Amino acid sequence: MIRERAYPVEPWHVRETRLDMDVLAQSESVFALSNGHVGLRGNLDEGEPHGLPGTYLNSFYELRPLPYAEAGFGFPESGQTIVNVTNGKLIRLLVDDEPLDVRYGELLAHERVLDLRAGTLHRELHWRSPAGREVKVRSTRLVSFTQRAVAAINYEVEAVDGPLRLILQSELVANEALPPQSRDPRVAAVLESPLQAEEELTTADGGLLIHRTKVSGLRVAAAMEHEVYAPARKTIQSEGYEDWVRTTIGCVLQPGETLRVVKYLAYGWSSRRSLPAMRDQVEAALTGARLDGWDGLRREQREYLEEFWDAADVVVEGDPEIQQAVRFGMFHVLQAGSRAERRPIAAKGLTGPGYDGHAFWDTEMFVLPVLTYTHPAAVRDALHWRHGTLAAAHERARTLNLEGAAFPWRTIEGPESSGYWPAGTAAFHIAAGIADALRRYVQVTQDTDLEREIGLELLVETARLWRSLGHHDRHGQFHIDGVTGPDEYTAVKNDNIYTNLMAQRNLITAADAVMRYRDEAFHLGVTDEEAAAWRDAAASMHVPYDEEIDVHEQVEGFTRLQEWDFAQTPPEKYPLLLHYPYFDLYRKQVVKQADLVLAMHWRGDAFTPEQKLRNFLYYERRTVRDSSLSACTQAVLAAEVGHPELAHIYLREAALMDLHDLNENTRDGVHMASLAGAWIALVAGFGGLRDHDGNLSFAPRLSSRLERLEFSLQWRGMRLRVDVRPYETTYSLRRGDPGDVLELRHHGEPVRVTCGEPVTMPIPPAEVSGPAPEQAPGRAPLLRLPENEP
Ligand code: BGC
Repeated sequence: MIRERAYPVEPWHVRETRLDMDVLAQSESVFALSNGHVGLRGNLDEGEPHGLPGTYLNSFYELRPLPYAEAGFGFPESGQTIVNVTNGKLIRLLVDDEPLDVRYGELLAHERVLDLRAGTLHRELHWRSPAGREVKVRSTRLVSFTQRAVAAINYEVEAVDGPLRLILQSELVANEALPPQSRDPRVAAVLESPLQAEEELTTADGGLLIHRTKVSGLRVAAAMEHEVYAPARKTIQSEGYEDWVRTTIGCVLQPGETLRVVKYLAYGWSSRRSLPAMRDQVEAALTGARLDGWDGLRREQREYLEEFWDAADVVVEGDPEIQQAVRFGMFHVLQAGSRAERRPIAAKGLTGPGYDGHAFWDTEMFVLPVLTYTHPAAVRDALHWRHGTLAAAHERARTLNLEGAAFPWRTIEGPESSGYWPAGTAAFHIAAGIADALRRYVQVTQDTDLEREIGLELLVETARLWRSLGHHDRHGQFHIDGVTGPDEYTAVKNDNIYTNLMAQRNLITAADAVMRYRDEAFHLGVTDEEAAAWRDAAASMHVPYDEEIDVHEQVEGFTRLQEWDFAQTPPEKYPLLLHYPYFDLYRKQVVKQADLVLAMHWRGDAFTPEQKLRNFLYYERRTVRDSSLSACTQAVLAAEVGHPELAHIYLREAALMDLHDLNENTRDGVHMASLAGAWIALVAGFGGLRDHDGNLSFAPRLSSRLERLEFSLQWRGMRLRVDVRPYETTYSLRRGDPGDVLELRHHGEPVRVTCGEPVTMPIPPAEVSGPAPEQAPGRAPLLRLPENEP
């Protein structure tokens, strides 16, 4: 955990004012740059020291066997693991006779700044070599949002004293050695030299490398070119070998003089394209980058982000740390999705190898809801990606003896990559998450083309899955048995409420869509009887309830299970999954992450306010938050049931997950769902946004710390701005046409907003809620309310 405040609080920057070797790997994730296609961890330019070197290309993976001590039918046999591809970030520097290495000599100053508006990582250092020679280095790195294959580094060295002989070695390196793997199941498998050399080529000012993975047979090309601006005579030459290409630049600087090198990088990969085609592809990308030049790339980057922030920014007054954190989170969410283009958005984006680079339900249930309202083009692409994996999902369903599509719990390309059934395949709820993300996207954008082309099929195939997975009992009640809900400490149980309610909505959405697209549904083989069967199943969905203590049961029988002995569970035994057998966790009332509480958020229409409060209090006492996908949901419900101060504390936990490394695993990559969760906690928590029935509704109410919360949402071509103050909320339309009208609800009251006519509504006083929520003993929120900032 980064206990002291590691990064000063600033609204638009994440700044590290000194290099802390103890948290190097964490900072590499925090400072990772990506556009969803290419991802570069925030490794130092000179490559060493490092926590975890990392360069990733979306969906570039290797296959590895999934061995089982005792195999069973339907166990996936091979898993996919993201590959650390050719490193193009490397720029080593020889200062007279000494390599620049911050572990030696004296580091007189070191600062790194992630600029959320410029989309760059900037570094400045002042170093005195062991021989007493001083240089200042300034480097700025970007991964272009506008040119998908391109990254660039502007690297400047200034001689402080002199004359100085500088030799700069800029490289592409494949098959870097990686640190050994720990036993934590959440980290990635380490692959030894996964890349086989196919071609290397050098020109005077750069070169390229082409490699191929051994088993998955994917080909990757990486190329670099340099522009050199030297005040005096310089030399430049390049050489290449199987796994590395190096461009060496030499020059002598007088005191105060600067050598500037712009390094352009291009990446491409393919499973099909030939070697010459890949070579041409990356060389063309380099030409595109040089056409714009460093200044052009920077300008385009800024303009892209200006447009994004105009639609997506959230203004928070009263908690400056949250202001910074929510923008940091949105930036990473954008980085993960913006140019993913029909490729997955992984749980860590492209910031680290955690969870082997897999995408989970995190994408559809946490990341996509945020992008739907702020950058819907990325959602369209992500839904296309899921649709592209339908063949694998069909096959998986057949193996499992089910109808429709069984989407994988974790995957890169489509096949199930989870080797652990109870917290893998059994988490069928991912299907309903996909359907819900689709429903929301279509509702918000009215992109009926997408709905017709791919949406209907996703809905039909997921509805078929539910219908075949569940069954009507002799009283007609519909049950979905033997599944795992979001809480992975309660596995393979009957009637998980979250699963059932999400499946219910999935079935109804599918049946409704079939009515709208009759021809297309006919082609998918849907009959009236089939759609009627979906409606029947939805109408008779079982929702377990404990009448005696008046709370919903997360799964059938949950409230009669033995209680977890929290008193005997010391703090160092968390997360429980690393210290207790699953067998024990599964048979007791201990909840890893919001599950029923999550159902009360996304299916809040299925609960009364009284039930929500009682359920919240009950599950709050049993939830340990061993997953980062919990705090944001607890924030949303705490706000809804009248506990805004607790909501604020949970908001902080979700938002500061990576800036404070709260779960002590940010080294493996940032927690994308939790970062998205900061937005969810603010907008759905304090803004009260709900979209259950195709309509927008808000129930804004701030915590006592917050003076203001302002956010924008895209809605059917309009942009709604919501400005929440302690006692009133103003709704206004931006960028709409004069005739545009947006109808919404504010604390249940209908409101019509038209262009140019903002509407201000009072916030009704909070109703008195029940007793103060209590957490499981020893599991109080990790952070407190902010201290009063000056
Ligand atoms: C959580 C899952 C999540 C996964 C990837 C697990 O710890 O329990 O809900 O999908 O992490 O983020």
